[in-house]
Amino acid sequence: MKPLRPFPKGRRPRSGDVEAIRTLIRDLPRDPSLLVEYLHCIQDAYGGLSRDHLCALAAVLELPMAQVYETASFYHHFDIYPRNAPRDRVTVRVCTSPSCAMAGGEQLLETLTAQSDPDKLRVVSAPCMGRCHRAPNAAVGQNYLEKAEATDVLDAALNRHTSPRVPTHESLAEYLFARQGYQALERCRQGHCTVSGILDNLDAAGLRGLGGAGFPSNRKWEVVRSGKPPRYLCVNADEGEPGTFKDRHYLTSQPHQFLEGVLIAQWAVAADQVYIYLRDEYPECREILRKEIQLLEDRGIAPAGMLELRRGAGAYICGEESAMIESLEGKRGLPRQRPPFVAEVGLFGRPTLVHNVETLFWISDILRRGGQWFADHGDAEHKGLRSYSVSGRVKNPGVKLAPAGTTARELIETYCGGMAAGHTFAAYLPGGASGGILPADLGDLPLDFGSLEPHGCFVGSHAVVILSQEDDLPALARNLVAFFCHESCGQCTPCRVGCEKLLDLISAENWDLPLIQSLSQTMQDASICGLGQAAPNPVLSILRHFPQAVPAKERP
Ligand code: SF4
Repeated sequence: MKPLRPFPKGRRPRSGDVEAIRTLIRDLPRDPSLLVEYLHCIQDAYGGLSRDHLCALAAVLELPMAQVYETASFYHHFDIYPRNAPRDRVTVRVCTSPSCAMAGGEQLLETLTAQSDPDKLRVVSAPCMGRCHRAPNAAVGQNYLEKAEATDVLDAALNRHTSPRVPTHESLAEYLFARQGYQALERCRQGHCTVSGILDNLDAAGLRGLGGAGFPSNRKWEVVRSGKPPRYLCVNADEGEPGTFKDRHYLTSQPHQFLEGVLIAQWAVAADQVYIYLRDEYPECREILRKEIQLLEDRGIAPAGMLELRRGAGAYICGEESAMIESLEGKRGLPRQRPPFVAEVGLFGRPTLVHNVETLFWISDILRRGGQWFADHGDAEHKGLRSYSVSGRVKNPGVKLAPAGTTARELIETYCGGMAAGHTFAAYLPGGASGGILPADLGDLPLDFGSLEPHGCFVGSHAVVILSQEDDLPALARNLVAFFCHESCGQCTPCRVGCEKLLDLISAENWDLPLIQSLSQTMQDASICGLGQAAPNPVLSILRHFPQAVPAKERP
């Protein structure tokens, strides 16, 4: 008979590490759904995640080490290292997404890599940081540097300036007294508004999910409300689509208008708990929300503990609603197969209302002024207001509030002061990385849900990146497909392998057009979620709208 194993299988925690982890997370409840939060606690304290600490965390939570490790290794912002690696290394991230690449992000990355000591600085390329109008961007820990220059980044890194800088914003007092803030919420709670009246108002407004999907808000609310309690409201503040920065704009300027919308939605669907899932790239928003939520609780406007702020960890896929829900449950952000939809079976298997920040931002205004007020900003086909994140080759990039259906040419000429000096409008991305590429000839199309699909594109989160004659379209396609490769969750083969193969194909001197078409079709047909389905869009757009730019022996 084989002797019994003298100790459990696998890596065993050291008692000192277990004590250290217990002390570190003592203020948080023991709950596996908080796994990402615990990992942040450790990383914030130690500058990264050592394997010994992961092992100790698994022991403290009584979870398998594999579960802790697979979650920690899924998110790009967690830096896992063996026990003896240097722990005082600062991570410097440099954005190389399209708007930052156009403004010199790739050169900045090269310079920083060449000039830094890898034992002291970890310099990595990173996807969009949500500050595309002030490109190029870099981050030293939680300190985001806009219009970054190598000397400033190195200075911040070597002097350990890693804390976020919090901008001034509308305070609770200003919102309450100058703008009659929280009165719409109070009217709901006092019984002066009915839920069906609110749903009618949202319907009249034509308010749709402004995170990218554009699903009518009132219908989502109805489905969630009709489900059995407990119900949840999850706010998707993980706007990771390259080129998108409108949610950050509202969170850093008018956080209370957003929070009032959150509380009205929570009341309307009778949600038991609200989770605000905020991307890790927005530490200043985290500071603002933490402080303002506490003030709301102190004044009795929000019930204590009702609004729970959660922190993402650098995974674009967690902007997909079911992946975000998985992350909120403490797991890897793997999108779920649907049906069932999250409105019916969402967080912890319960009916869940998921909305992005901008959608909730408009709720109180719509209740105060009436749904027709919102709808009147557009026309019969394109109702309401939209916050376009405009970046790239324009004079004044930024968040532009304009009627739904505004065109790219109008955004450039009326809202952005024209093209940047020396640049001529040549093409544009109408919906960030995934929405495809359109030529300037099609610059008069209304940018709204459903308008661009006949041209193989979509508006998504309304992230409009303007390109000029200076921009190399095949290089842009490589940048975008490399981004999808990096961000694929790896769950399904058409996306995981397809992104890699597509990147190989478009990196060749001559594009193999039949193979590219066939692979793209497979990815679109068979990928589980929108990431894999949309990944070929930049390439297909070039084949369709810019045949002269295709590096192939035969024109498409
Ligand atoms: Fe994951 Fe890509 Fe499949 Fe979506 S399409 S589930 S991101 S592998």
